[in-house]
Amino acid sequence: MTKQLKDMTWEEARAALETSRLGIIPTGSIEQHGPHLPVGTDFLIADCLAKRVAEKTDAIVTPTIPIGFASYHQDFEGTLSVTPEHLAAYYLDVANSLILYGVTHLLFINGHGGNAGALTSVCRDLRDRGIASAFVQWWDIAGGINEKWSMIGHGDINETSIMLAISGANVHLDRAATPENKWLTDEVQVTDLTVCKFGPGYVNSYFRTGDVSDTGDFLEYGHSATADYSTSPAGATAENGEEILSAVTAYILEFIEQFRKMNFEPAPVPSKE
Ligand SMILES: [Zn+2]
Repeated sequence: MTKQLKDMTWEEARAALETSRLGIIPTGSIEQHGPHLPVGTDFLIADCLAKRVAEKTDAIVTPTIPIGFASYHQDFEGTLSVTPEHLAAYYLDVANSLILYGVTHLLFINGHGGNAGALTSVCRDLRDRGIASAFVQWWDIAGGINEKWSMIGHGDINETSIMLAISGANVHLDRAATPENKWLTDEVQVTDLTVCKFGPGYVNSYFRTGDVSDTGDFLEYGHSATADYSTSPAGATAENGEEILSAVTAYILEFIEQFRKMNFEPAPVPSKE
């Protein structure tokens, strides 16, 4: 089993950095997850995936960065948020701390969709410097492996299942139910954080989670409804959660093999003339 960075001495870290050029930075969030899940959900899932990946690779795995960008969840108590600009600068500083010691490949294991903007800007910066970088998100992976793991919403059955597997004592299945997305008018219903449905079409906007539901959890079907959106998180099981975690961990490990083969030149510097 490979140690995580926080458990190494500096001499062990030096030896690890001499044999591995791959850094892994998990990124989480502390944000409301409906009436049935703890606010640490996105932190705990990213942290768990990183631990499992750390056990199977020689990558340098940093501690999970706990707080992300989640101001749109702050209609519900307990949500913490860092502005995307601060977050991107912080992520980049952590990445640069590994690059200083020769890391050439940086993989972020992201537990929260709200961090994606900051991560994209970090990846852009790193790419231009010739550093390979990427971020993986479990919900982008799970549905492709098994259709029943497709994303249904915030605090949905699969996210609840994963939390039962990781931190069951803090999951309250008796408080879980299929959330109802709000109607903004008699004819306009929110179908995602940035989309609402009116008649046969969809209109784009930006909503806070308090605009979307009264309970904090909500359905995310965006421009279409294909999965079964009546599925209740009350049907979650730790067994299902463990299966998702195992499958996603295996996927990330397989991706890492490909990721190590990706090499980029620094972008040309514009001439000053
Ligand atoms: Zn979540």
